[in-house]
Amino acid sequence: MIYKRSSALFNEAKKYIPGGVNSPVRAFNAVGGEPIFVKEAKGAYLYDEDGNKIIDYIASWGPLILGHAYDPVINAVIEKAKKGTSFGMPTEIETELAKLAVSMVPNIDKIRFVNSGTEACMSAVRLARGFTGKDKIIKFAGCYHGHSDSFLIQAGSGAVTFGSPNSPGVTQGTAKDTLLANYNDLANVTSLVEANKGEIAAIIIEPVAGNMGCIIPSKEFITGLRELCTKEGILLIFDEVMTGFRLGRGGAQEILGIDADIVTFGKVIGGGLPVGAFAARNEIMDYLAPNGPVYQAGTLSGNPLAMSAGLAMLTELNNNPDIFRSLADKTEYLHKGLKKALDKKGIAYQINRFGSMISVHFTDEPVVDFATSAKGNNDTFKKYFHGMLSKGVYLPPSAFESYFLNDALSYKDLDDTIAALEDLEL
Ligand SMILES: *Cc1c(COP(=O)(O)O)cnc(C)c1O
Repeated sequence: MIYKRSSALFNEAKKYIPGGVNSPVRAFNAVGGEPIFVKEAKGAYLYDEDGNKIIDYIASWGPLILGHAYDPVINAVIEKAKKGTSFGMPTEIETELAKLAVSMVPNIDKIRFVNSGTEACMSAVRLARGFTGKDKIIKFAGCYHGHSDSFLIQAGSGAVTFGSPNSPGVTQGTAKDTLLANYNDLANVTSLVEANKGEIAAIIIEPVAGNMGCIIPSKEFITGLRELCTKEGILLIFDEVMTGFRLGRGGAQEILGIDADIVTFGKVIGGGLPVGAFAARNEIMDYLAPNGPVYQAGTLSGNPLAMSAGLAMLTELNNNPDIFRSLADKTEYLHKGLKKALDKKGIAYQINRFGSMISVHFTDEPVVDFATSAKGNNDTFKKYFHGMLSKGVYLPPSAFESYFLNDALSYKDLDDTIAALEDLEL
Protein backbone atom coordinates (compact mmCIF):
# COMPACT_ATOMS: atom_id res chain seq x y z
CA MET A 1 0.00 0.00 0.00
CA ILE A 2 1.08 3.57 -0.68
CA TYR A 3 0.80 6.21 2.05
CA LYS A 4 2.32 9.16 0.23
CA ARG A 5 -0.54 11.63 0.42
CA SER A 6 -1.45 10.58 3.99
CA SER A 7 2.10 11.22 5.01
CA ALA A 8 2.15 14.69 3.42
CA LEU A 9 -1.19 15.57 5.02
CA PHE A 10 0.07 14.39 8.40
CA ASN A 11 3.15 16.59 8.15
CA GLU A 12 0.99 19.57 7.26
CA ALA A 13 -1.46 18.82 10.10
CA LYS A 14 1.39 18.66 12.61
CA LYS A 15 2.19 22.31 11.89
CA TYR A 16 -1.20 23.50 13.05
CA ILE A 17 -2.67 20.80 15.30
CA PRO A 18 -0.78 19.32 18.30
CA GLY A 19 0.62 16.01 17.07
CA GLY A 20 -1.39 16.44 13.90
CA VAL A 21 -4.53 14.92 15.46
CA ASN A 22 -7.54 15.93 17.51
CA SER A 23 -7.52 12.80 19.66
CA PRO A 24 -4.20 11.17 20.66
CA VAL A 25 -4.79 7.50 19.74
CA ARG A 26 -5.17 8.53 16.09
CA ALA A 27 -1.49 9.51 15.97
CA PHE A 28 -0.29 5.85 16.03
CA ASN A 29 2.06 6.50 18.98
CA ALA A 30 1.32 3.05 20.40
CA VAL A 31 2.16 1.24 17.16
CA GLY A 32 4.66 3.56 15.51
CA GLY A 33 4.49 4.83 11.94
CA GLU A 34 2.14 7.45 10.59
CA PRO A 35 -1.66 7.55 10.57
CA ILE A 36 -3.62 7.17 7.36
CA PHE A 37 -5.89 10.03 6.36
CA VAL A 38 -9.41 9.04 5.37
CA LYS A 39 -11.02 10.51 2.32
CA GLU A 40 -14.36 8.76 2.49
CA ALA A 41 -16.01 5.57 3.65
CA LYS A 42 -18.99 3.43 2.77
CA GLY A 43 -20.29 0.30 4.46
CA ALA A 44 -17.39 -1.74 5.84
CA TYR A 45 -14.70 0.07 3.85
CA LEU A 46 -12.48 3.08 4.33
CA TYR A 47 -10.94 4.80 1.30
CA ASP A 48 -7.83 6.74 2.22
CA GLU A 49 -6.22 9.76 0.57
CA ASP A 50 -3.87 7.52 -1.41
CA GLY A 51 -6.75 5.54 -2.93
CA ASN A 52 -6.30 2.43 -0.74
CA LYS A 53 -9.42 0.46 0.12
CA ILE A 54 -9.36 -0.83 3.69
CA ILE A 55 -11.65 -3.13 5.70
CA ASP A 56 -12.54 -1.21 8.85
CA TYR A 57 -12.77 -2.75 12.33
CA ILE A 58 -13.12 0.40 14.40
CA ALA A 59 -16.22 2.01 12.87
CA SER A 60 -15.25 5.43 14.24
CA TRP A 61 -14.58 3.69 17.59
CA GLY A 62 -18.04 2.21 17.74
CA PRO A 63 -20.78 4.57 16.56
CA LEU A 64 -21.14 3.20 13.03
CA ILE A 65 -22.60 -0.15 14.02
CA LEU A 66 -24.41 -0.45 10.67
CA GLY A 67 -21.41 0.62 8.60
CA HIS A 68 -20.17 3.91 7.20
CA ALA A 69 -22.46 6.43 5.50
CA TYR A 70 -25.53 4.35 6.33
CA ASP A 71 -28.26 5.72 4.05
CA PRO A 72 -31.12 6.26 6.54
CA VAL A 73 -28.77 8.18 8.86
CA ILE A 74 -27.22 10.26 6.08
CA ASN A 75 -30.62 11.13 4.59
CA ALA A 76 -32.03 12.12 7.99
CA VAL A 77 -29.12 14.49 8.58
CA ILE A 78 -29.37 16.06 5.10
CA GLU A 79 -33.10 16.68 5.43
CA LYS A 80 -32.70 18.14 8.92
CA ALA A 81 -29.82 20.42 7.91
CA LYS A 82 -32.00 22.14 5.32
CA LYS A 83 -34.24 23.37 8.15
CA GLY A 84 -31.48 24.95 10.21
CA THR A 85 -28.59 23.50 12.19
CA SER A 86 -29.08 24.82 15.72
CA PHE A 87 -31.56 26.97 17.59
CA GLY A 88 -30.70 26.91 21.28
CA MET A 89 -34.41 26.28 21.81
CA PRO A 90 -36.37 23.07 22.34
CA THR A 91 -37.19 20.91 19.31
CA GLU A 92 -39.56 17.96 18.96
CA ILE A 93 -36.89 15.55 17.77
CA GLU A 94 -35.15 15.68 21.18
CA THR A 95 -38.25 14.17 22.76
CA GLU A 96 -38.53 11.59 19.99
CA LEU A 97 -35.00 10.32 20.58
CA ALA A 98 -35.42 10.48 24.37
CA LYS A 99 -38.67 8.51 24.19
CA LEU A 100 -37.12 5.85 21.97
CA ALA A 101 -34.00 5.50 24.12
CA VAL A 102 -36.05 5.23 27.31
CA SER A 103 -38.23 2.55 25.68
CA MET A 104 -35.21 0.48 24.64
CA VAL A 105 -33.09 0.64 27.80
CA PRO A 106 -34.22 -0.98 31.06
CA ASN A 107 -34.44 0.94 34.28
CA ILE A 108 -34.35 4.55 33.04
CA ASP A 109 -37.20 7.09 33.05
CA LYS A 110 -35.49 10.18 31.72
CA ILE A 111 -32.41 11.00 29.67
CA ARG A 112 -30.36 14.19 29.20
CA PHE A 113 -28.41 14.70 25.97
CA VAL A 114 -24.90 16.15 25.89
CA ASN A 115 -22.21 16.28 23.18
CA SER A 116 -19.77 13.50 24.06
CA GLY A 117 -19.23 10.43 26.20
CA THR A 118 -16.81 12.44 28.32
CA GLU A 119 -19.48 14.98 29.13
CA ALA A 120 -21.99 12.24 29.88
CA CYS A 121 -19.71 10.52 32.44
CA MET A 122 -18.57 13.79 33.99
CA SER A 123 -22.19 14.90 34.43
CA ALA A 124 -23.30 11.49 35.73
CA VAL A 125 -20.70 11.69 38.50
CA ARG A 126 -21.76 15.22 39.44
CA LEU A 127 -25.37 14.07 39.57
CA ALA A 128 -24.42 11.08 41.74
CA ARG A 129 -22.52 13.33 44.13
CA GLY A 130 -25.37 15.83 44.29
CA PHE A 131 -27.94 13.10 44.83
CA THR A 132 -26.04 11.23 47.56
CA GLY A 133 -24.34 14.23 49.17
CA LYS A 134 -21.01 12.32 49.10
CA ASP A 135 -17.75 13.20 47.34
CA LYS A 136 -15.75 10.08 46.52
CA ILE A 137 -16.08 7.75 43.57
CA ILE A 138 -14.54 4.39 42.73
CA LYS A 139 -13.34 3.67 39.21
CA PHE A 140 -11.52 0.65 37.84
CA ALA A 141 -7.95 0.65 36.53
CA GLY A 142 -8.02 0.41 32.75
CA CYS A 143 -11.65 1.58 32.39
CA TYR A 144 -11.99 4.77 30.37
CA HIS A 145 -14.74 7.27 31.05
CA GLY A 146 -13.52 10.18 28.94
CA HIS A 147 -10.89 12.79 29.69
CA SER A 148 -12.51 14.72 32.53
CA ASP A 149 -10.23 15.32 35.55
CA SER A 150 -11.88 12.85 37.95
CA PHE A 151 -11.18 9.94 35.61
CA LEU A 152 -7.53 10.65 34.73
CA ILE A 153 -6.33 8.88 37.81
CA GLN A 154 -3.80 6.08 38.24
CA ALA A 155 -3.00 3.75 41.11
CA GLY A 156 -1.34 5.39 44.08
CA SER A 157 0.96 3.52 46.42
CA GLY A 158 -0.57 1.04 48.85
CA ALA A 159 -3.72 -0.98 48.55
CA VAL A 160 -6.30 1.42 49.95
CA THR A 161 -4.75 4.80 49.24
CA PHE A 162 -6.20 7.43 47.00
CA GLY A 163 -5.35 7.55 43.35
CA SER A 164 -2.86 10.06 41.94
CA PRO A 165 -3.21 12.14 38.77
CA ASN A 166 -2.04 10.43 35.59
CA SER A 167 -1.91 13.66 33.62
CA PRO A 168 -0.30 16.96 34.53
CA GLY A 169 -3.08 19.47 35.06
CA VAL A 170 -5.21 17.14 37.16
CA THR A 171 -4.94 18.40 40.73
CA GLN A 172 -4.19 16.35 43.84
CA GLY A 173 -7.42 17.76 45.21
CA THR A 174 -9.41 16.10 42.44
CA ALA A 175 -7.38 12.89 42.57
CA LYS A 176 -8.07 12.36 46.26
CA ASP A 177 -11.77 11.85 45.55
CA THR A 178 -11.23 9.08 42.98
CA LEU A 179 -10.39 5.65 44.37
CA LEU A 180 -8.99 3.02 42.08
CA ALA A 181 -9.99 -0.66 42.09
CA ASN A 182 -9.09 -3.70 40.01
CA TYR A 183 -11.58 -5.01 37.48
CA ASN A 184 -13.07 -8.42 38.31
CA ASP A 185 -11.81 -8.12 41.90
CA LEU A 186 -14.80 -7.82 44.21
CA ALA A 187 -12.74 -8.24 47.39
CA ASN A 188 -10.67 -5.23 46.35
CA VAL A 189 -13.78 -3.08 45.87
CA THR A 190 -15.30 -4.27 49.13
CA SER A 191 -12.19 -3.33 51.09
CA LEU A 192 -12.10 0.13 49.45
CA VAL A 193 -15.73 0.67 50.44
CA GLU A 194 -15.02 -0.50 54.01
CA ALA A 195 -12.04 1.85 54.31
CA ASN A 196 -14.14 4.79 53.08
CA LYS A 197 -17.43 3.90 54.73
CA GLY A 198 -20.25 6.36 54.08
CA GLU A 199 -18.11 8.55 51.81
CA ILE A 200 -18.62 7.01 48.40
CA ALA A 201 -21.17 8.53 46.04
CA ALA A 202 -20.76 6.18 43.11
CA ILE A 203 -18.93 3.30 41.51
CA ILE A 204 -18.47 3.83 37.79
CA ILE A 205 -17.66 0.91 35.52
CA GLU A 206 -17.60 -0.21 31.91
CA PRO A 207 -19.97 -3.18 32.38
CA VAL A 208 -18.08 -4.95 29.59
CA ALA A 209 -14.73 -3.22 29.37
CA GLY A 210 -13.45 -2.13 25.98
CA ASN A 211 -10.64 0.25 26.78
CA MET A 212 -8.07 -2.32 27.94
CA GLY A 213 -9.01 -4.66 25.15
CA CYS A 214 -12.35 -6.37 25.57
CA ILE A 215 -12.72 -7.68 29.12
CA ILE A 216 -15.74 -9.58 30.36
CA PRO A 217 -16.93 -9.15 33.95
CA SER A 218 -17.34 -12.37 35.87
CA LYS A 219 -20.91 -12.98 37.01
CA GLU A 220 -19.82 -13.05 40.63
CA PHE A 221 -18.04 -9.71 40.25
CA ILE A 222 -20.80 -7.74 38.55
CA THR A 223 -23.56 -9.23 40.73
CA GLY A 224 -21.51 -8.58 43.84
CA LEU A 225 -20.93 -4.99 42.78
CA ARG A 226 -24.68 -4.42 42.47
CA GLU A 227 -25.31 -5.94 45.90
CA LEU A 228 -22.53 -3.93 47.50
CA CYS A 229 -23.84 -0.66 46.05
CA THR A 230 -27.38 -1.36 47.20
CA LYS A 231 -26.23 -2.28 50.69
CA GLU A 232 -23.99 0.77 51.11
CA GLY A 233 -26.22 3.40 49.44
CA ILE A 234 -23.73 3.85 46.59
CA LEU A 235 -24.98 4.62 43.07
CA LEU A 236 -23.82 2.16 40.43
CA ILE A 237 -23.01 3.99 37.20
CA PHE A 238 -22.82 1.83 34.09
CA ASP A 239 -20.72 3.62 31.50
CA GLU A 240 -22.42 2.26 28.40
CA VAL A 241 -20.82 4.73 26.02
CA MET A 242 -19.35 1.71 24.22
CA THR A 243 -21.80 -1.06 25.07
CA GLY A 244 -25.07 0.90 24.85
CA PHE A 245 -27.10 0.04 21.72
CA ARG A 246 -24.21 -2.27 20.69
CA LEU A 247 -24.54 -5.37 22.85
CA GLY A 248 -28.32 -5.33 22.50
CA ARG A 249 -31.27 -2.92 22.47
CA GLY A 250 -30.98 -2.47 26.20
CA GLY A 251 -27.18 -2.57 26.34
CA ALA A 252 -25.13 -4.36 28.99
CA GLN A 253 -27.83 -3.92 31.66
CA GLU A 254 -30.14 -6.13 29.62
CA ILE A 255 -27.51 -8.66 28.54
CA LEU A 256 -25.93 -9.06 31.98
CA GLY A 257 -29.25 -8.81 33.81
CA ILE A 258 -27.95 -6.13 36.18
CA ASP A 259 -29.74 -2.85 36.96
CA ALA A 260 -27.59 0.25 37.09
CA ASP A 261 -28.61 3.45 38.90
CA ILE A 262 -27.25 5.83 36.27
CA VAL A 263 -26.35 4.89 32.70
CA THR A 264 -24.18 6.91 30.31
CA PHE A 265 -24.24 6.75 26.54
CA GLY A 266 -22.26 8.01 23.56
CA LYS A 267 -21.00 6.54 20.30
CA VAL A 268 -23.95 4.56 18.77
CA ILE A 269 -26.58 6.90 20.23
CA GLY A 270 -25.28 9.69 17.98
CA GLY A 271 -25.10 7.59 14.82
CA GLY A 272 -21.72 9.18 14.01
CA LEU A 273 -22.51 12.72 15.14
CA PRO A 274 -21.37 14.14 18.48
CA VAL A 275 -23.89 12.93 21.07
CA GLY A 276 -23.57 11.69 24.62
CA ALA A 277 -26.31 11.14 27.18
CA PHE A 278 -26.93 10.11 30.75
CA ALA A 279 -30.09 8.59 32.13
CA ALA A 280 -31.65 7.26 35.33
CA ARG A 281 -34.91 6.79 37.13
CA ASN A 282 -37.01 9.86 37.91
CA GLU A 283 -35.94 10.18 41.53
CA ILE A 284 -32.33 10.70 40.41
CA MET A 285 -32.94 12.67 37.20
CA ASP A 286 -35.19 15.11 39.09
CA TYR A 287 -32.05 16.29 40.90
CA LEU A 288 -30.88 17.83 37.65
CA ALA A 289 -31.37 21.50 36.67
CA PRO A 290 -33.84 23.01 35.96
CA ASN A 291 -35.90 20.67 38.19
CA GLY A 292 -33.24 20.18 40.79
CA PRO A 293 -30.06 21.71 42.17
CA VAL A 294 -27.36 19.86 40.15
CA TYR A 295 -26.25 22.13 37.33
CA GLN A 296 -25.53 20.90 33.82
CA ALA A 297 -26.03 22.66 30.47
CA GLY A 298 -24.91 22.85 26.82
CA THR A 299 -25.34 25.35 23.98
CA LEU A 300 -25.41 22.61 21.34
CA SER A 301 -26.90 19.84 23.50
CA GLY A 302 -29.78 18.12 21.72
CA ASN A 303 -28.57 19.58 18.44
CA PRO A 304 -31.11 18.77 15.71
CA LEU A 305 -28.58 17.27 13.25
CA ALA A 306 -27.09 15.08 15.97
CA MET A 307 -30.57 14.06 17.18
CA SER A 308 -31.68 13.17 13.65
CA ALA A 309 -28.65 10.91 13.18
CA GLY A 310 -29.24 9.27 16.56
CA LEU A 311 -32.94 8.82 15.92
CA ALA A 312 -32.37 7.22 12.52
CA MET A 313 -29.76 4.87 14.01
CA LEU A 314 -31.77 3.82 17.07
CA THR A 315 -34.90 3.38 14.97
CA GLU A 316 -33.06 0.89 12.74
CA LEU A 317 -31.72 -1.01 15.74
CA ASN A 318 -35.06 -1.00 17.52
CA ASN A 319 -36.91 -2.28 14.46
CA ASN A 320 -34.32 -4.93 13.60
CA PRO A 321 -33.04 -6.46 16.84
CA ASP A 322 -31.67 -9.36 14.72
CA ILE A 323 -28.77 -7.03 13.94
CA PHE A 324 -27.26 -7.75 17.36
CA ARG A 325 -27.44 -11.50 16.74
CA SER A 326 -25.99 -11.08 13.26
CA LEU A 327 -23.12 -8.99 14.62
CA ALA A 328 -22.38 -11.44 17.41
CA ASP A 329 -22.37 -14.31 14.87
CA LYS A 330 -19.92 -12.46 12.64
CA THR A 331 -17.71 -11.72 15.62
CA GLU A 332 -17.74 -15.37 16.65
CA TYR A 333 -16.82 -16.37 13.08
CA LEU A 334 -13.94 -13.90 13.12
CA HIS A 335 -12.84 -15.23 16.51
CA LYS A 336 -12.70 -18.81 15.21
CA GLY A 337 -10.78 -17.77 12.11
CA LEU A 338 -8.24 -15.66 13.98
CA LYS A 339 -7.78 -18.47 16.50
CA LYS A 340 -7.08 -21.00 13.76
CA ALA A 341 -4.57 -18.69 12.10
CA LEU A 342 -2.80 -17.85 15.37
CA ASP A 343 -2.66 -21.47 16.56
CA LYS A 344 -0.56 -22.27 13.48
CA LYS A 345 1.98 -19.61 14.42
CA GLY A 346 2.73 -21.15 17.80
CA ILE A 347 2.77 -17.83 19.68
CA ALA A 348 1.09 -17.02 22.96
CA TYR A 349 -2.19 -15.18 22.57
CA GLN A 350 -5.63 -14.63 24.09
CA ILE A 351 -8.80 -13.61 22.33
CA ASN A 352 -11.55 -11.95 24.38
CA ARG A 353 -14.98 -11.52 22.85
CA PHE A 354 -18.41 -10.34 23.96
CA GLY A 355 -21.16 -9.63 21.42
CA SER A 356 -19.60 -7.51 18.67
CA MET A 357 -16.56 -6.55 20.76
CA ILE A 358 -13.36 -8.56 20.38
CA SER A 359 -9.64 -8.12 21.09
CA VAL A 360 -6.43 -10.10 20.61
CA HIS A 361 -3.74 -10.04 23.32
CA PHE A 362 -0.28 -11.52 22.82
CA THR A 363 0.15 -13.10 26.24
CA ASP A 364 -0.22 -16.61 27.67
CA GLU A 365 -2.31 -15.49 30.66
CA PRO A 366 -6.08 -14.95 30.60
CA VAL A 367 -6.80 -11.21 30.28
CA VAL A 368 -9.22 -10.24 33.05
CA ASP A 369 -8.09 -6.80 34.20
CA PHE A 370 -5.66 -3.99 33.40
CA ALA A 371 -2.58 -5.74 34.80
CA THR A 372 -3.11 -8.87 32.71
CA SER A 373 -3.95 -6.79 29.64
CA ALA A 374 -0.77 -4.77 30.07
CA LYS A 375 1.29 -7.99 29.95
CA GLY A 376 0.59 -8.33 26.24
CA ASN A 377 3.68 -8.26 24.01
CA ASN A 378 3.54 -4.89 22.29
CA ASP A 379 6.27 -5.70 19.75
CA THR A 380 4.14 -8.55 18.44
CA PHE A 381 1.10 -6.31 18.50
CA LYS A 382 2.88 -3.68 16.39
CA LYS A 383 3.86 -6.28 13.80
CA TYR A 384 0.31 -7.60 13.80
CA PHE A 385 -1.24 -4.14 13.43
CA HIS A 386 1.04 -2.93 10.63
CA GLY A 387 1.02 -6.32 8.91
CA MET A 388 -2.77 -6.36 8.79
CA LEU A 389 -2.88 -2.75 7.63
CA SER A 390 -0.47 -3.51 4.81
CA LYS A 391 -2.96 -6.18 3.70
CA GLY A 392 -5.86 -3.72 3.80
CA VAL A 393 -7.30 -4.42 7.28
CA TYR A 394 -7.63 -1.57 9.77
CA LEU A 395 -7.54 -2.68 13.41
CA PRO A 396 -7.44 -0.34 16.42
CA PRO A 397 -3.93 1.18 16.57
CA SER A 398 -3.42 0.17 20.22
CA ALA A 399 -3.42 -3.15 22.07
CA PHE A 400 -5.71 -1.58 24.68
CA GLU A 401 -8.64 -1.06 22.35
CA SER A 402 -11.47 -3.39 21.43
CA TYR A 403 -12.48 -3.87 17.80
CA PHE A 404 -15.99 -2.80 16.94
CA LEU A 405 -17.61 -4.86 14.23
CA ASN A 406 -20.19 -3.22 12.00
CA ASP A 407 -22.99 -5.07 10.28
CA ALA A 408 -21.87 -4.01 6.82
CA LEU A 409 -18.96 -6.47 7.15
CA SER A 410 -19.64 -9.49 4.95
CA TYR A 411 -18.42 -13.03 5.55
CA LYS A 412 -16.14 -12.49 2.56
CA ASP A 413 -14.59 -9.51 4.42
CA LEU A 414 -14.10 -11.70 7.47
CA ASP A 415 -12.52 -14.44 5.34
CA ASP A 416 -10.19 -11.87 3.75
CA THR A 417 -9.24 -10.65 7.22
CA ILE A 418 -8.49 -14.18 8.44
CA ALA A 419 -6.50 -14.91 5.25
CA ALA A 420 -4.47 -11.73 5.84
CA LEU A 421 -3.51 -13.01 9.29
CA GLU A 422 -2.65 -16.47 7.93
CA ASP A 423 -0.14 -14.84 5.57
CA LEU A 424 1.45 -12.74 8.28
CA GLU A 425 4.83 -13.40 9.94
CA LEU A 426 4.52 -12.57 13.63
C1 LIG B 1 -15.39 6.49 24.16
C2 LIG B 1 -15.70 6.34 25.58
C3 LIG B 1 -15.91 7.44 26.42
C4 LIG B 1 -15.66 8.85 25.98
O1 LIG B 1 -16.51 9.27 24.98
P1 LIG B 1 -16.05 10.54 24.08
O2 LIG B 1 -17.23 10.75 23.18
O3 LIG B 1 -14.81 10.14 23.38
O4 LIG B 1 -15.84 11.68 25.00
C5 LIG B 1 -16.35 7.21 27.70
N1 LIG B 1 -16.56 5.96 28.16
C6 LIG B 1 -16.35 4.87 27.39
C7 LIG B 1 -16.62 3.51 27.93
C8 LIG B 1 -15.90 5.03 26.09
O5 LIG B 1 -15.65 3.94 25.35
